[in-house]
Amino acid sequence: MLFDEFANKIQQAISNVSKLQVFNDKEFQKALKNVRDSLIEADANVEIVDELISNVETKMKQVKIPKGVTKTQMFVKLVQDGLTEILGGEGTSDRILSAPQRQKRIMFVGLQGSGKTTTIAKFAKLTLKKFPKARILLVACDTRRPAAIEQLNILGKRVNCETFSGEEGSNAEWVLDRALKYSLEKEFDYILIDTAGRQVIDNDLMNELVLLEKNAKPDEILLVLDAMTGQEAANVARQFATTVRISGAVLTKLDSDTRGGAALSLNSISGCSICFMGTSENLDGLETFYPDRIASRILGMGDIVSLVEKAQENVSEDEVKEMAKRMMEAKFTFEDFLKQLSFVSSMGSLGNMLKMIPGVGNKINSEDIPKMETKLKVAKAIIQSMTNEEKKNPQLFYDDISSKKRIERIRRGSGRSQEEIDDFFKTFKSAQITMKKLGASATGEAGSADSIESTD
Ligand code: GDP
Repeated sequence: MLFDEFANKIQQAISNVSKLQVFNDKEFQKALKNVRDSLIEADANVEIVDELISNVETKMKQVKIPKGVTKTQMFVKLVQDGLTEILGGEGTSDRILSAPQRQKRIMFVGLQGSGKTTTIAKFAKLTLKKFPKARILLVACDTRRPAAIEQLNILGKRVNCETFSGEEGSNAEWVLDRALKYSLEKEFDYILIDTAGRQVIDNDLMNELVLLEKNAKPDEILLVLDAMTGQEAANVARQFATTVRISGAVLTKLDSDTRGGAALSLNSISGCSICFMGTSENLDGLETFYPDRIASRILGMGDIVSLVEKAQENVSEDEVKEMAKRMMEAKFTFEDFLKQLSFVSSMGSLGNMLKMIPGVGNKINSEDIPKMETKLKVAKAIIQSMTNEEKKNPQLFYDDISSKKRIERIRRGSGRSQEEIDDFFKTFKSAQITMKKLGASATGEAGSADSIESTD
């Protein structure tokens, strides 16, 4: 998983907090220190980390904790907010990947080897997945390296996109000029422009980019950065950003053994926010980057605090109290699960909703949302096929000798496949465990959470 090592450390820190019976000042300081250490070990910039920690500390002292939310849950939320902030706040990938009203020009810049050419092909593929009819032209303006032109040609064929390249010896400006004329004539929707890279930033490179920006008038300039370079990526970004108008960064090679330093430092140091991430060498390996979802993934928790807060806005106080009480008593039943699904259904986008469901939120990425939508419908159908007794007593499905028969009856009743049924019970169990853990932290029954887990 992305930021694996870092995520494990920070999750450990959070999980220790969740088990506490009393979250007093000493424990709070210890938790802050643990979060700080895990961020520093992930190679995040020290100043940025200290600012995050100090913000969490201040806000924790000032914030009014809503009813039904524990201090530890509030702490988790504040850490998540802080992480979201340093990862770039509002995500920009939706804007970049939106349907073009007119021809959309996107210029890709970055150092040699950062993954620029590969990213262009990946981006074309991702765009075609979203808009299958889009007409995309790849333009080879990295004219200094014949191998780069050839590489773009090959990758273009693999993603079924036409590539425009000049004859040998032609310069980047000339190629761009011809490509733009050609693209207007042929009514392409997207123009993806590859540019030259260098091993280090030099004046020649920057001058060429300035010229290309002036002539191409791109809607977006995406800076491609190699995550394996760690914090250095943020310094590279700062230099690019002083020369051309970078509108977003693509962080590549996040599948490699990176600690996360690049992602954690980039926005604060350079002002560039990450919009996409490269997660494999193959052409499907480009994902949208939403800071809030990544923060949630790193923390490995469904955003239970937002769930409760939003629930307070959307449902009656009594219902919230009842739900919080049930959580604390660890009576998390199918009825509660269904209620949770219905609460969140009324809360806006599915993406926001999913990340709030414990056991689900930390596993999703934006590409999976349509699949998840189906999954929710399936979950509702399954729960609605249960008897009232079953809805109130999940244990009937786990330890009763008749549980197989029950499951078979529900499978037939809901018209769902065995695979969907198995998946549903697995997801429910995971939500139940998280709820029980959160409940335990509030009631001091820390040990009991593990007893459910061990029935797995
Ligand atoms: P350019 O010089 O910036 O155009 O870089 P390339 O597109 O040629 O990529 C350099 C190397 O990085 C190639 O071997 C790519 O396959 C590899 N690469 C690019 N993106 C990723 C990624 O997200 N993950 C991994 N593992 N490798 C990548």
